[in-house]
Amino acid sequence: MIMNHGNKMAEAELIYHVHIGKISIVVFWMLLVAVLFSCVTRHHPPFTVRPPEHRNLQAFENRLQKAVSASTHLTMEKIGRVDYPDFQAFLCRIRFQAVQSPRYRVLISAVIHGNEPASAEATARFVEDLIGSPEKYSNLAIDIVPIVNPWGWVHDIRYNQAGIDINRDFATFNAQESNIIKQFIQNTSYDLMMDLHEDPTARGFYLYQYGLADKNVCEKIVATIKDLGYPIEQNVRMIILKTENGIIDAPMWGLWYMRLTGQLSITNYCRLNNSRSVFTVETPTSLLWEDRLKMQKTAVTMLLDLMMDDK
Ligand SMILES: [Zn+2]
Repeated sequence: MIMNHGNKMAEAELIYHVHIGKISIVVFWMLLVAVLFSCVTRHHPPFTVRPPEHRNLQAFENRLQKAVSASTHLTMEKIGRVDYPDFQAFLCRIRFQAVQSPRYRVLISAVIHGNEPASAEATARFVEDLIGSPEKYSNLAIDIVPIVNPWGWVHDIRYNQAGIDINRDFATFNAQESNIIKQFIQNTSYDLMMDLHEDPTARGFYLYQYGLADKNVCEKIVATIKDLGYPIEQNVRMIILKTENGIIDAPMWGLWYMRLTGQLSITNYCRLNNSRSVFTVETPTSLLWEDRLKMQKTAVTMLLDLMMDDK
């Protein structure tokens, strides 16, 4: 009886050690992959020869200024200055606020990648729509940064002038632009944050969500986009995550992994520091301009409506 008990103890101990050994091997390989991955640069060499200009920043800012001037609920503020040897620009924040103490605070950012232009246009149109119907979002304070990467937007390039992918720089903060955003959002809690993108490789619309218990909100948005007749992405991969019916459902450990490998995106960073409800909107650049804008508008307004449903 005693021997039997002893054997069982020894057997349990052996299983325990084998189990711990397996976990250690898995953790070791995960760390090794993380270290190797962190050595793989996602950046580009600095752009020493100035590329041709595709868009006019002053005209875009004038347009936003005109919208802001037309509403007592809109303000515009310069939140930082990007300064390269042959290019200077301000990062601007538009704020919508219709009442003194709004219940919810929202952050919308766009064009962290300069070659994803429909997202800037979507924010400009969103601001212009707010002029005519401020009551629609009367319980919200909405901060909008329409162009996080002005150099990239002007030159239609993903990176900033230093060749940094700003959307992989929110662990290392080597870029001027990510430092401006970090300073702007520090100590601010947002009830909802969304970052607007486009994808040159995708064939359909998709969304990222981060550390959420269910996919209800994203599923409703994807269903609406599908009903409008637009394609839904099935095949985009992000490291080890993959779209499932237009949704990339990133778990919290995925964010910690991205932090470990020094690849945090703006949404990863906001989810870890500023907001529990964070989403990335992606439209395929292969589709027509107005179709991409319709998809962006649908996603933005639905996120506001669904996440702030008691507003
Ligand atoms: Zn992007």
